[in-house]
Amino acid sequence: MQRRQIFQTVTTLGLGALAGCALPGNAVQQTQQPKTPFDVPATYVPIVGSDMQFPVRRIYCIGRNYAAHAREMGSDPTREPPFFFQKPTDAIQNVAPGTVADHPYPSLTKNYHYEVELVAALNKGGRNIPMARALEHVYAYGLGLDMTRRDLQRALGDEKKPWEIGKSFDRSAPIGPLHLATQTGPFTQGNIWLKVNGQTKQNANLNQMIWSVAEQISKLSEAFELMPGDIIYSGTPENVGPVVRGDVIDCHIDGLPNLSIKIV
Ligand code: MN
Repeated sequence: MQRRQIFQTVTTLGLGALAGCALPGNAVQQTQQPKTPFDVPATYVPIVGSDMQFPVRRIYCIGRNYAAHAREMGSDPTREPPFFFQKPTDAIQNVAPGTVADHPYPSLTKNYHYEVELVAALNKGGRNIPMARALEHVYAYGLGLDMTRRDLQRALGDEKKPWEIGKSFDRSAPIGPLHLATQTGPFTQGNIWLKVNGQTKQNANLNQMIWSVAEQISKLSEAFELMPGDIIYSGTPENVGPVVRGDVIDCHIDGLPNLSIKIV
């Protein structure tokens, strides 16, 4: 309620631009920047074939979305409701195709894991989105890594504490550029793999996801009002594992350019 009121405080100058930025629930986005004592950079991901960049609002991640990965994490992969967590938007590390981006080994961990994932980027929001219409909300797809301080994630989970610092730290979300869904079509199947120093570690098919991208959007929208700019990391297949400084990670999803980082 309070947020709505703030959004509706729009200056006359901004009114001209309102038509293009109406948000669900009659909320209206503030189009004129207020004066601030300092700047905070926004987060963007490049869009392939466009001079525009995708503005990232929230990063949602789904946990244990491949049965074999759920088993290796010690849980029962029967079809329980999906669960979600978030990363901060500034966890994004943009990685250009054809390059090997330096990725810093983070502090506090001795067991730093890769998780290769399909990412869906939304340009439409809503609540209680039916599954049959969910993919209409996807603007683009990308290839991402959900980097994880596994030791901290496990220890915090064991202590029934939030696993925030295991998952939601700086640069924990490397991502390639986004590809328009109108050009790629939906990603319901296709190979997804990850290699470390040329050796295959993860190797699966997107059709092995327990919850499809459409189902993820539908389920997420029961818990949150989704908005344009939200992106969803759709979970990783089995055989997650550690990397150390000097390792090079290459990952792949059929239909997208590979993504490569070097742990430094
Ligand atoms: Mn993950």
